Amino acid sequence: METIESIAANTALVRAREGGGRSWKWKEMLRFPHISQCKDLAMNIERDYYSLCVKQPIGKKLFQLFCRSRPDLQNYISLQDALVQTWLTTATLANVSKQTNKQKTLIFLPLLQLASNHIQGTVDLHKYLSNEPFTQYQDSMFFARFLQWKQLERSPIMKQTFRQYRLLGKGGFGAVWACQVRATGKMYACKKLEKTHVKKRKREDMALNEKEILQELDSRFVVNLAYAYETKHNLCMVLTMMNGGDLGFHIHRMGSPGLTKDRVRFYAAEVCCGLIHLHQKSILYRDLKPENILLDDNGHIRISDLGLAVKMSEGSLVRGRVGTLGYMAPEVIGYERYGMSVDWWGLGCLIYEMTAGRPPFRAKGEQPKSSEMERRIQNEHEEYGNQFSKETKDICSSLLTKDPTKRLGSQKSGGKDVKFHPFFQEINFRMLEAGRVDPPFKPDPSQVYCTDVQDIEEFSTVKGVHFDQTDSFFYSQFNTGSNSIIWQNELIETGCFEELNVFGPKGSASPDLDW
Ligand code: ADP
Ligand code: MG
Ligand code: MG
Repeated sequence: METIESIAANTALVRAREGGGRSWKWKEMLRFPHISQCKDLAMNIERDYYSLCVKQPIGKKLFQLFCRSRPDLQNYISLQDALVQTWLTTATLANVSKQTNKQKTLIFLPLLQLASNHIQGTVDLHKYLSNEPFTQYQDSMFFARFLQWKQLERSPIMKQTFRQYRLLGKGGFGAVWACQVRATGKMYACKKLEKTHVKKRKREDMALNEKEILQELDSRFVVNLAYAYETKHNLCMVLTMMNGGDLGFHIHRMGSPGLTKDRVRFYAAEVCCGLIHLHQKSILYRDLKPENILLDDNGHIRISDLGLAVKMSEGSLVRGRVGTLGYMAPEVIGYERYGMSVDWWGLGCLIYEMTAGRPPFRAKGEQPKSSEMERRIQNEHEEYGNQFSKETKDICSSLLTKDPTKRLGSQKSGGKDVKFHPFFQEINFRMLEAGRVDPPFKPDPSQVYCTDVQDIEEFSTVKGVHFDQTDSFFYSQFNTGSNSIIWQNELIETGCFEELNVFGPKGSASPDLDW
């Protein structure tokens, strides 16, 4: 039964999500420093065209504004629009060509031509812009303004930066809370690790590892790290807010267990893209299970909880029995050295569980001992009921191949093999990767897809822990503040950028832009 406490917590969260929510002092919080305060930054910032004008969202906007202000560069804007259009055309056609043989031969050559024009066009465009225009940009008021934004981006992050809402969930270490940036109104999920717990259980390396791996990633299929900071008692990672709940909730707690085939295929395809992104960065995930795959407002998924992820060095393998029993691959249980193959095993378990409404080696409601689970994973073959179509069964059994060298995804071509499996026939991966495929299910914005607040267990308090110099050093490594790209996107998405990025009359610089 829902208690008053839990209804109140949910109502507050739903209201905050509905929008607005900026503090009335937001303009003061985001006041530009005078340009003279950005001199250090101007001296030290790396003058890299790609990072400043393409990769960083606010940088890209200001560079575009600069080009628009120059008659000789205005064509650049139209060219860029045309290139986006070409890209879309090739992506759409690419899917058609995947489906019918006749059309394939008809459009293949023009398609190839278009795609290569697109690549060549983009290369030429940036080659041109990165020379003289980029040099001139750096002397313009637009770049001065960029430095002001950059200085704001580096403001210290603390408890007061956020408003806190209800508890969303708990895992082995972290309690995750809904929170909102006061200045912009943007909602995030804040994963808090108690300093006392971390120290008592010697998890400093693990905490730092999770933070550093998240920081390095930028994928629409993995949660983003927006901020990392410390308070007196906690280490905090501020992550993409995922309002739609985790896949475990959707498989098991929304009516009869399991999901429809179009949802299974869609989530599996997005997880597959997420894994490929991680593997390209030599990161092995190791914790694939429904509870760690989260849905956003629109019904797209992201991989979360990178606490067990590990960065691999070139060509080497790792060892270590980590993961969640029931989802661990046979080679992990067998204490062998392993690589990316374990994540493909995990994808097999996930597709199986989404389809059957139970994991592959455990009956509904059964709680076998760990030794029994291990035996089944290593020796038994999973069974396929009539919920499994031919393709679903085939992809599951290829991914759940006991021998890691023979497993789908584990060959040299890696994730590509998985994408090409007939199970994914109807997925256009290029469109999916560009975020242009509509999810088959959209979460209800008025529902809170998680366990009631009072049902989430409290952590016990730890006493008798004392902090010293080593701890302070570790905290300072953790406390890196805002993550550039995510922070800049937050300002653009919430409209704060548009409202604040005004210049003086007739395109002149505003007073705070004169050196
Ligand atoms: P742990 O490492 O301790 O397992 P997780 O990162 O898995 O912690 O988080 C615990 C729970 O908190 C998740 O199962 C989920 O319910 C919730 N949660 C985690 N991250 C988010 C997020 N970004 N948005 C919404 N809920 C989240
Ligand atoms: Mg977890
Ligand atoms: Mg974890």
